[in-house]
Amino acid sequence: PPGEAAGLLRHLNPEQLAAVTLPAGNALILAGAGSGKTRVLTTRIAWLVQTGQVSPAGVMAVTFTNKAAKEMLTRLSTLLPVNPRGMWIGTFHGLCNRFLRAHWKLAGLPQGFQILDAQDSVSAVKRIVKAMKLDEERYIPKQCAWFIAGAKEDGLRPQHIEVRDELTRTQQAIYQAYEDQCQREGVVDFAELMLRTYELMRDHAELRQHYQRRFRHILVDEFQDTNRLQYAWLKMFAGTDNNVLAVGDDDQSIYAFRGARVGNMADFEREFHVQQVVKLERNYRSFGNILDSANALIAHNSRRLGKNLRTEAGPGEPVRVFEATSDFAEAQWFLDEARQLQRDGSPRSEIAVLYRSNAQSRVIESALFNAGVPYRVYGGLRFFERAEIKHALAYLRLIENPNDDTSFLRVVNFPTRGIGTRTMELLQDAARSSGRSLWQSVGAIAGKGGSNLGAFTALVDAMRDATRGLTLREIIEHVVQSSGLADFYRNEKEGAERLENLDELVNAAEAFVTQEGFGKDAVALPVDEQAGRIAERLPAAVALVDTQPDAETGEIMSPLAAFLTHAALEAGDNQAQAGQDAVQLMTVHAAKGLEFDQVFITGLEEGLFPHENAAADLDGLEEERRLMYVAITRARKRLYLSFSQTRMLHGQTRYNLKSRFFDELPEAALKWLTPKLQGFGSGYARDYQAAWQRGTGLGSMVGAGRVVPASAPAAFEAQARSTPNGLRSGQGVFHTKFGEGVIVTLEGIGADARAQVNFGRHGMKWLALSVAKLTPVD
Ligand code: ATP
Ligand code: MG
Repeated sequence: PPGEAAGLLRHLNPEQLAAVTLPAGNALILAGAGSGKTRVLTTRIAWLVQTGQVSPAGVMAVTFTNKAAKEMLTRLSTLLPVNPRGMWIGTFHGLCNRFLRAHWKLAGLPQGFQILDAQDSVSAVKRIVKAMKLDEERYIPKQCAWFIAGAKEDGLRPQHIEVRDELTRTQQAIYQAYEDQCQREGVVDFAELMLRTYELMRDHAELRQHYQRRFRHILVDEFQDTNRLQYAWLKMFAGTDNNVLAVGDDDQSIYAFRGARVGNMADFEREFHVQQVVKLERNYRSFGNILDSANALIAHNSRRLGKNLRTEAGPGEPVRVFEATSDFAEAQWFLDEARQLQRDGSPRSEIAVLYRSNAQSRVIESALFNAGVPYRVYGGLRFFERAEIKHALAYLRLIENPNDDTSFLRVVNFPTRGIGTRTMELLQDAARSSGRSLWQSVGAIAGKGGSNLGAFTALVDAMRDATRGLTLREIIEHVVQSSGLADFYRNEKEGAERLENLDELVNAAEAFVTQEGFGKDAVALPVDEQAGRIAERLPAAVALVDTQPDAETGEIMSPLAAFLTHAALEAGDNQAQAGQDAVQLMTVHAAKGLEFDQVFITGLEEGLFPHENAAADLDGLEEERRLMYVAITRARKRLYLSFSQTRMLHGQTRYNLKSRFFDELPEAALKWLTPKLQGFGSGYARDYQAAWQRGTGLGSMVGAGRVVPASAPAAFEAQARSTPNGLRSGQGVFHTKFGEGVIVTLEGIGADARAQVNFGRHGMKWLALSVAKLTPVD
């Protein structure tokens, strides 16, 4: 009814309204962060359905993360009286999974095919490199896996690889062997999900026509980060008559390193005959100081399509900047601030810590953990990627599909059951020569090794029998016990946490079952009818894994198979503390599209952010800057930036300079919590550290009786290592040519004295102290 549709549109400004109600046709929205792009996309879906222009089943929407897909579904279920499950909403991978589940036979896959995550796929490649007796130093499995994924994303199968030399010939052979192996095992990797779907659509006219007739409206969020294959895929689904809405921001393109093409936006405009590009210029997310910082920063990039962003929210609070003496002190400072924010009424879930690299989370995690503050990590040390979880999942996967060699190898001798490398080599040879799976080849192995293998397959068979008809929860509990994993970790020194994680797996399964509506009958309805009928039963239904019936037989996936798919696809979310209010930790990449009241960007140091691998060339640096732009624009109310003089990373103490990005922010928007000196060695930070060690705190930084950790903060050790000429490692120095730097290493004495100095953007230099003039700056 028109009245309801009007209600939908009430919370939009005129430009947004125009975009939501665009007439049929293809359209591109190009607008900056927080301008309401995602809101427009979601509202347009609701409006199209509400005004009867499309049925829910005729909508496909692509989001960038599972978290974003969930939010969109939840949002739609509040906007619309129908159940949004009939729509296809998800990530590219999620939608491809859904597609292939329905057409597994045509795709040449087993019905219960499983998904290899990035780690699995590297270990699958590793096995091939071994089997082909190649030099693992030359053919590094990780790089080979990267090569294969890249080829698939360019739409290339092994036979399409251009063989130019020995190297490419071998890469081609590895790719081919990898494909054969995946096919034999009935597993697909992420890139395969996309490519297989694309090829199926391309090669089967009827299928193509069916889907092109079905999806009248296709909407793609975060379009700037699509790659070549995703673009081709989109064209395949769109055909010539459907309506595609692409939404993006070139300033937030942060996946070039993985093949994303900003150029897709220009191609889209041309090839889809977009009449007019919609721009949105008002930012609704952040206060002025935050937005000014973002605008000033991104203005340093050269190749931009050019957009403006303004807010009417007023300047808000200044952006706070903190300099710490060590990563440890930085984490402690964060903890104090976070507690203060909580006391002031902020929920934990509105406090986010962002960092450039996964490895940085550990220190912050341990600060939170020790203080008993609940937190959740997105990305990074992913719940589903932890060893104990992968072990349990491997048993579960073998129950579903015994031919899954990756899982077989993972647990055949874990916990140990006397199956040695020799036996495994024999087994792998037997499998290879007969072209069968490891499981199928067990019978070919004689002797003690053979009987141990037999015991293993018997164990898995017994698990399968025993769990038939049980609930997902019961299945997992049974497997964790009968596999011996529980006993194993119970006896291990540091096994307690792993046992807890295994318990969490049960919780994750439980949450999954509730979310997916895996009750008795919820999923058996055909898709189109589902839309209206089961709405009451599933109020905020979030369908990430498709449980739709097989196109021919009407058969649906078992809850276990669905859960395993979910675990592979959703490896990003830590379901461990589902429902609990928790501080949010994630990399900047994982934060795209999200927003939080309070955002902390930590580790803003040269070499870290911008990252040393990227800062060397202009393209890399500009991508880092876009990443920083994404980070800043996540904040609604308050933004904190911090950096540290020293940091333990990968087992080494690094002495860092503050990030060059600080020089690109408007001074008027910032408030330095520590005096802004040369960027290192400021007295305040040291006082803070000392106060913290005493456990007294400074100013608002309360918190008595803290325990000093066994390893003294690195900055203090550094200060102790003074040399006779007055220089010490960790010290800030000035050099006439290279500018400011920090001494990393001091060696030799007298005329031989040398120093290794980190000059930030000038890099790391070794200097002879008898020649180089170094002036201490603090
Ligand atoms: P990003 O580029 O970071 O993905 P975006 O352009 O998709 O951002 P949204 O997430 O859609 O922006 O919107 C940012 C915030 O502003 C959200 O909290 C949204 O609800 C709010 N918002 C958007 N439009 C309006 C409006 N017209 N009135 C009030 N709030 C709005
Ligand atoms: Mg968005």
